Amino acid sequence: MAAARPAKFTVVGAGLGGALMAIYLGRAGYEVEVHERRADPRVSQQDGGRSINLAISTRGIESLAAVGLADEILRMAIPMRGRMMHSLHGELAFQPYGTEAAHVINSVSRADLNIALLNAAEKTGNVRLVFGKRCAGVDLDTATVSVTDVDTGKKSTVRADAVVGADGAFSVVRQQMQRLDRFDYEQAYLEHGYKELTIPAGPDGRFLLERHALHIWPRGGFMLIALPNRDGSFTATLFWPLEGEDSAASLRTEADVRRYFAEMFPDAVPLMPALIEDWFRNPAGTLVTIRCRPWHYRDKVVLLGDAGHAVLPFYGQGANAAFEDCLVLSECLAAHAPDREQAFARFQALRKRNTDALADLSLANFVEMRDHTASRTFLLARRLEKGLHRLFPARFVPLYTMVTFSRTPYAEAVERARRQWRIVKLAAAAPVAAGLSLLLWRRSRR
Ligand SMILES: Cc1cc2nc3c(=O)[nH]c(=O)nc-3n(C[C@H](O)[C@H](O)[C@H](O)COP(=O)(O)OP(=O)(O)OC[C@H]3O[C@@H](n4cnc5c(N)ncnc54)[C@H](O)[C@@H]3O)c2cc1C
Repeated sequence: MAAARPAKFTVVGAGLGGALMAIYLGRAGYEVEVHERRADPRVSQQDGGRSINLAISTRGIESLAAVGLADEILRMAIPMRGRMMHSLHGELAFQPYGTEAAHVINSVSRADLNIALLNAAEKTGNVRLVFGKRCAGVDLDTATVSVTDVDTGKKSTVRADAVVGADGAFSVVRQQMQRLDRFDYEQAYLEHGYKELTIPAGPDGRFLLERHALHIWPRGGFMLIALPNRDGSFTATLFWPLEGEDSAASLRTEADVRRYFAEMFPDAVPLMPALIEDWFRNPAGTLVTIRCRPWHYRDKVVLLGDAGHAVLPFYGQGANAAFEDCLVLSECLAAHAPDREQAFARFQALRKRNTDALADLSLANFVEMRDHTASRTFLLARRLEKGLHRLFPARFVPLYTMVTFSRTPYAEAVERARRQWRIVKLAAAAPVAAGLSLLLWRRSRR
């Protein structure tokens, strides 16, 4: 009897999630075709400006390690050991991220990371990458993707056994599923957008700020952050209200921009010689949270990464979560083979409540980063967390540590953190309650 032909997958989107999923599928012996609307980033830098960097941590690293890529990616990264806070008066305060030396997050160029993944996908021998083809729609019942050639406008179709929608927050694959009966969909834009600015390297490629830190200028209501690049530069990102009196839209002239930055980020201005060019050239990006359900259609289509659950970038977890999706989905496919519908359903069951929890965490961290990182209460709470962790390492683990330096499911981490704090509050309240009882008892005896 002839061996069964391996199932064929079409992956829509060769971004971070799509490229890693293609590697997992290719290594598992599936036949994979990836369709990406952009040009091949290995031969073209046309993607609307410079590449930004992002922070990769434990979930991402473990998902890369499972396909033998963690070391290569970490070699391209700059470890960041903590936050470097910049006050309005230029004072610096360093807050380590973790409780151990290994607790670092890794700044890596998005473009370099993407290219490494694409190369690894091709190396599996089972993945064909097709660039410049935009997915225009999907026939969900037959797993047929309609693609349009970006240069010629020529239309064609690609048929497979299943489609992976890894086409980002504005996923066309998801939009097709949104037409289904009982498909839940929710999107919320943040009133803040972001704009990227550059802090170039100093003479001889020197870093002009501490390189092993994520720099934050928290200003209550908005903030500037900067992550290091390997060439000695930093990519700075301003998160700011898009509209209103004190907003990106209100800075119309060069003088407006110079005055505002000098007032708000005086120590950063001398490091940004191209501030004005960057400000007027770089578009303001928007930030959206997306939740939807279900993530799959029968055994034919499944969503992963931002297509299923776009989150705000403030916990530095969007790409990490997309990578973890790839690991979990590949485990589900292996565990339930050849039943893809079971595998897709299990994938959603394992991930959905966790990425919902991540969406909440990401919003909460925005408020924490812009408003609280500079406050005394915040610093005290973080110190207390670390102290408690040192005293009871197995019983008290800070939430940030669980989210960033472990693979504890996000929802479980949130629940555990709540439980821990409840116990701490009870423990703190016990002596007070005992004192009060003693006082009342003494009074009652008088
Ligand atoms: C400012 C900012 C900072 C961030 N920082 C971090 C961070 O520090 N750490 C972190 O973990 N995450 C971070 N993120 C989040 C992270 O970028 C995303 O979560 C991650 O890129 C999601 O990967 P993805 O593959 O799902 O989507 P994407 O990376 O968006 O990839 C989608 C791909 O699909 C392609 N595509 C789209 N539509 C079509 C179509 N119709 N046909 C064909 N192809 C299509 C796109 O061109 C793209 O290549 C940040 C996000 C932002 C906005």
